[in-house]
Amino acid sequence: MRIYIGRKMRMRRKDDDRLMMELTILGAHSPYAPANGALSGYLLQIDGFNIMIDCGNGTFSRLQKHIDFAKLNLAILSHLHPDHYCDVYSLRQAIGGAMKAGLREEPLIVYLPDAPKSIADEIKSWDDVFHSVSIAEAMTMNNDFNLFQLEFFRTKHEPETYGLSVSQGSQRLLAYTADTGWFGELPQYCQGAKILLAEASLKEQELDKLGDRHLSASQAGRLGQIIGAETIILTHFLPTHNLYQLQRQAEAQFDGKVLLATMGKTYLITNNEKKQVI
Ligand SMILES: [Zn+2]
Ligand SMILES: [Zn+2]
Repeated sequence: MRIYIGRKMRMRRKDDDRLMMELTILGAHSPYAPANGALSGYLLQIDGFNIMIDCGNGTFSRLQKHIDFAKLNLAILSHLHPDHYCDVYSLRQAIGGAMKAGLREEPLIVYLPDAPKSIADEIKSWDDVFHSVSIAEAMTMNNDFNLFQLEFFRTKHEPETYGLSVSQGSQRLLAYTADTGWFGELPQYCQGAKILLAEASLKEQELDKLGDRHLSASQAGRLGQIIGAETIILTHFLPTHNLYQLQRQAEAQFDGKVLLATMGKTYLITNNEKKQVI
């Protein structure tokens, strides 16, 4: 299912397809999945370039509903909490198998944090199937993939966690908060993003207890408002929470559209102002 994001609906023309990014929700729950659900994971497709962002439990299975996993170009692990990385074990086996079968030549590029060291080192040791890139090192480099640029920022969440944004030229199209508590520089890292994929783990009354490591739905709404986003996609839901209540809390802080990340849905994002949709 596809949901167009933007202001006005227009037909997509073949010659400007390259301006489109497609964000598919592979899983949106934490710290465990409800029946038939999955934990954090997203597929971002930009002109045939396939990026898996986070690999929580159940997401690798969901990925295969959308693409041939042998055609993954990049995987990014925001941090090494189980709800964001556990399916990397499946990914390793699958990519290894595809390489042995001649279905893929190159190892998969995997961006990941350096901590916890034991987990990071284990993933980095699979160097026959993964080309691992430390995100801390990547932040010192220009992560330019021709059609788009990646930027990372350290969030307020332990162990070492990174949010990211994706830009095309001067336009920041997508910002992903990963897991984070509110901190002063957060808006600046996401500034100008058209779409904000924001965690909304908490209800307001939970901020006292967990606000140092997670955002509430209201804070996600406030963040979207400050950065001037067009649309917020809320994610990282506790299975026990009422999602429509979270949506209303975010909407109370934000003038734009608030969507709930829904597994299996694909959101189209474009940098062409004439082609804004919905
Ligand atoms: Zn976490
Ligand atoms: Zn998490």
